[in-house]
Amino acid sequence: MKKRVDVIVLGAGSMGMAAGAFIAKQGASVLLLDAFDPPDHQGSHHGDTRMIRHAYGEGKKYVPLVLHAQKLWHQLEEETGERLFEKTGVLGLGKSDSPFLIEEIASSKEFFLPLEILEAAEVRKRWPGIRIEDDLIGAFEPNSGLLYSEACISAYRRVAQHHGAELCMNTRANRITYHADGVTVHTEKGDFQADRLVVTAGAWTGSLLRDLDIPLQPFRKTAVWYEADEALYGLGSFPSYFMDLPGERFYGFPSIQGSGLKIGSHDAGRIVDPDEVNREFGSQPDDEGDLALMVERFFPGVSRQNKRGQVCLVTWTPDHDFIIDRHPDHEHVLLISACSAHGFKFASAIGEIAMQMSLKGKTEMDITPFSLRRFM
Ligand SMILES: Cc1cc2nc3c(=O)[nH]c(=O)nc-3n(C[C@H](O)[C@H](O)[C@H](O)COP(=O)(O)OP(=O)(O)OC[C@H]3O[C@@H](n4cnc5c(N)ncnc54)[C@H](O)[C@@H]3O)c2cc1C
Repeated sequence: MKKRVDVIVLGAGSMGMAAGAFIAKQGASVLLLDAFDPPDHQGSHHGDTRMIRHAYGEGKKYVPLVLHAQKLWHQLEEETGERLFEKTGVLGLGKSDSPFLIEEIASSKEFFLPLEILEAAEVRKRWPGIRIEDDLIGAFEPNSGLLYSEACISAYRRVAQHHGAELCMNTRANRITYHADGVTVHTEKGDFQADRLVVTAGAWTGSLLRDLDIPLQPFRKTAVWYEADEALYGLGSFPSYFMDLPGERFYGFPSIQGSGLKIGSHDAGRIVDPDEVNREFGSQPDDEGDLALMVERFFPGVSRQNKRGQVCLVTWTPDHDFIIDRHPDHEHVLLISACSAHGFKFASAIGEIAMQMSLKGKTEMDITPFSLRRFM
């Protein structure tokens, strides 16, 4: 049996690594356990980039959380001297009756966030690499952009270690035993004990906590990079973007140092078991799906020839909102599932919330919309 710590963070990926850094900075003893060695290519956080939007199409309730998260990302950049965020702006494209755009516009008004509404002709003029019909509009948010996801996790990892966090990587937790005053986490490398536990196991959360029967569904998803004219689609010229079209939703990023234009489908993908999934891009016939067609339709200076593709795991909740809540039977155990394909941007704020809830017993942020009880 290893030395007992104040907090074990089970899963040191996007949410868990941030949680570990915030907890260690408070001077508490924290053990970060992970089945792999994040950042890595097994879970939900790889693929270079994640979008951060402030006016929020998924619901106004996320705006205070994302604004706080943005502040914390800047703090992490200052603390580590790393560039983690690029203010590319985010361009949303869709019909004027798109519920996503309508909610985004409403939240920008409520929170006084800059958001320019553009006619199709104005979009084409500003970004000559975009070809859209007149029946679409653009909503451009100039202050948001992208996060370098692996670099963010590496930065929190360094902060956690600097403040004394213990990292136990390549160590899978097989089982948790709950006690009145703590937990024991059983792994292949032995048992670990703590007063409190934060579970941030991403796509594995549902299977790890099988007895709670939380409706979490892991999906296999792909993203593809296409050869692009750098002058039109490179960082500095082209925004991060999403398209909410009838029946199809896509998102993507500018080409970064010749990476190619990135594009992914919000809706495509297939249900998988994270322990069984084939992570090789191209191993499934629909890995590229409609992406080359979308590129051809909307981005005339991008080749249909892909440079690379990647497979990543998304964990959906039925309502696509997060879970940030205590275990229903064990107050000292915190459960966090923040994915549904839009969670990364919040990792900084959620890491801080995990610290506040596990060390201080409460958080300053409103997490009532993320209750586990809504599914029970
Ligand atoms: C293709 C794609 C595009 C996305 N785009 C965006 C975007 O543009 N903007 C955005 O905000 N979000 C986006 N997301 C969502 C975002 O990436 C996720 O919300 C976020 O990465 C989830 O973080 P996590 O900590 O829950 O999971 P992860 O980062 O995967 O971390 C979970 C960790 O738990 C570990 N673990 C699991 N089980 C065990 C165990 N039994 N024992 C030990 N360790 C364990 C895993 O090894 C892993 O490291 C996207 C996701 C995907 C897949």
